[in-house]
Amino acid sequence: MTKENDEMIEGQFCPVCKQAVEVVSLRYPDYVCNDCVLAATDKQGREVIFYNSDVFGHGCAGKYRDNGEDYLSNICYIRGIVFEANEAYMGFRY
Ligand SMILES: [Zn+2]
Repeated sequence: MTKENDEMIEGQFCPVCKQAVEVVSLRYPDYVCNDCVLAATDKQGREVIFYNSDVFGHGCAGKYRDNGEDYLSNICYIRGIVFEANEAYMGFRY
C-alpha cells in the first residue's frame, strides 16, 4: 500500500495530453483519454484501433483503421509514448 492509494483522488488526467479524464478506477492511474486512444498508431505511424474481444482470450484486440487488417500486438504509440492496450484501459508499458 503506497501513500497515493490512501489519498482521495478528485481528478485524474490523461498522461498524454493532460486533460481531465473520468476516473475509472484507482487501479488505472494512467488511463488515457478517448481522444488520445483515437490517435494510437503502430511503430510506423499507421493508425490502429483497439476493441474488446474474447477472440484471443485476453479481452483485447487491435486492427488497422485504414483497411481493418488485424494488428497483432497490444503495443501502440500515442504522440511518441509507448502504450500497452489492456482489456479495460490503455496504459503505460512499464
Ligand atoms: Zn489524452
